[in-house]
Amino acid sequence: MPSPKNAMEIFRLLDQSNCRECGEKTCLAFAGAVYRGQKKIQGCPKLDPATRARFSDESENQPALEQNRDKYLAILKAEIGRIDLAAAAARVGADFSGSKLTLKVLGKDFSVDSSGKLSADIHINPWVALPFLDYLCRGKGLPVAGNWLSFRELKDGKERYPLFQKRCEMPLKQVADTYTDLFDDLVRIFGGKQVQEQFQSDISVVLHPLPRVPIMICYWLPEDGLESSLNVFFDDTADKNLAIGSIFSLGAGLAQMFEKLALRHGFAEAASIT
Ligand code: SF4
Repeated sequence: MPSPKNAMEIFRLLDQSNCRECGEKTCLAFAGAVYRGQKKIQGCPKLDPATRARFSDESENQPALEQNRDKYLAILKAEIGRIDLAAAAARVGADFSGSKLTLKVLGKDFSVDSSGKLSADIHINPWVALPFLDYLCRGKGLPVAGNWLSFRELKDGKERYPLFQKRCEMPLKQVADTYTDLFDDLVRIFGGKQVQEQFQSDISVVLHPLPRVPIMICYWLPEDGLESSLNVFFDDTADKNLAIGSIFSLGAGLAQMFEKLALRHGFAEAASIT
């Protein structure tokens, strides 16, 4: 079942009694918090059982998501054995030597051989391994155009955007809120580049999780009673160089990596991020 496309769609599913049992002043405020990924719809005790079941079945179900990811990863590894790795390297801007294809993921070497065996200078997060292999098997290798789009503006991104917010933008925002060195570390450790602020953000950093699939993270500091916000942008060629599912996986993988980075640096607040 498709995810709600806006807060009003969520509001229509609620009891609309403004009883405040969810901790929000109104059902509309609660719907907005759910849409932004700050609350789960199951937090409303008056939700009818059918709606509750519908949302617990959704793809945010972690084991189901991971099962699908692992199945697709196995398919891609098998596919790597059937493609011409040297030709793939030329198409996507990778190096090829000694039957191994290597490209930079966040500035570090990431390789695969013709049997699908992965090796890397960084921890191999399966959420990042999946887009890496998809990029090699199916990516068109188009050069970066320099026009930034949000996830929901990419082909087939609109329907998946609420889940992308939950798995990528919200966790990244929580890390950025509690781990003040995040953006410096993205530049120092992952080869990111701080760029002139975009979309009137306070901080904008561009990273290259794949050579021709840059992402830009924009962060707005809290101001005048408004809380901080964070959005991730992609080049407008991203959906030609990667399928939307792989772009989602890339965002979720980066969020996980940066959460771990924050935890390693001992920021206890970040430990509560799930
Ligand atoms: S608990 Fe449910 S019905 Fe009550 S205010 Fe919150 S969303 Fe509305």
